[in-house]
Amino acid sequence: MLLDGKTLAAQIEQELKIRVQALIQRMGGKIPVLATILVGDDPSSATYVKMKGNACKRVGLESLPVLLPTSTTTEELLGKIKELNENPLVRGILLQHPVPKQIDERKCFDTISIEKDVDGVSSLGFGLMSMGKWAYGSATPKGIMNLLEHYKIPLEGKHAVVVGRSAILGKPMAAMLLNKNCTVTICHSKTQNLPHIIGQADIVVGAVGIPEFIKTQWLKNGAVAIDAGYHNGGIGDIQKEGLSDKCSAHTPVPGGVGPMTISTLIMQTVESAEKFSTLTP
Ligand code: NAP
Repeated sequence: MLLDGKTLAAQIEQELKIRVQALIQRMGGKIPVLATILVGDDPSSATYVKMKGNACKRVGLESLPVLLPTSTTTEELLGKIKELNENPLVRGILLQHPVPKQIDERKCFDTISIEKDVDGVSSLGFGLMSMGKWAYGSATPKGIMNLLEHYKIPLEGKHAVVVGRSAILGKPMAAMLLNKNCTVTICHSKTQNLPHIIGQADIVVGAVGIPEFIKTQWLKNGAVAIDAGYHNGGIGDIQKEGLSDKCSAHTPVPGGVGPMTISTLIMQTVESAEKFSTLTP
């Protein structure tokens, strides 16, 4: 079974469009805003931010691109985030990762107010989610969870192996799967005997950042393979060749996790705007 993120994301967008129209009416014509902060001129980051802005427009939200030079300091970026935190029309703030090296990215993520952290990058949001409490989920792992739920992939009691432990992907992915009663193993660059561990997995999430690093032959027959990676030429972190024969279900690259990440970000922005609209007269 192909876990078609592109088609599901398009369906979700159609539903969000209707919700946004109702929201704008309730807000007397005001349009909720997602602020997208891009620091520097990395072309891939610029493309991702543009795609997120375009998705906003498709559902009727306003996107506010904030473009800052590569030389931006932590203090300058913190100042911009605080300004956006205080702007009532801004209902979501996205800070595109990674930021230039001189910036304390964690401090900046943690300055985004929890109710506007629609990309789920703050430590507070991660902590709350890990405790099974409400917070917007980190967009990529939350998008993967939405995809697994849509396709009714059984999770309870299954052994999930997450390869990668980054703060925005691997760690929250592991916590979300644990919250759904998976037995979770997290692998990283110091893990020994990775093929053996992957061979025991009912569900494998590739979040390594190395093209086709996870080999099809390592996977158990009938495993579910989720590929979060994306590299030039439409290659993911999991080897493509033989994947559909080996797996019971898998995500395509492209058209799997990528579109789900964007639709989750937009969905969480709409949720934030809906919450705010019920709080204000
Ligand atoms: P990252 O911060 O570079 O983290 C990579 C992780 O992989 C680290 O935890 C690292 O371990 C682990 N790793 C590296 N080499 C390994 C090895 N030989 N064996 C086992 N583990 C190894 O990357 P990320 O931001 O999490 O992104 C991962 C992938 O997802 C990338 O391909 C990225 O493009 C993609 N991604 C996609 C989306 C989307 O919207 N589709 C969003 C975000 C990321 P250590 O911790 O030990 O270094």
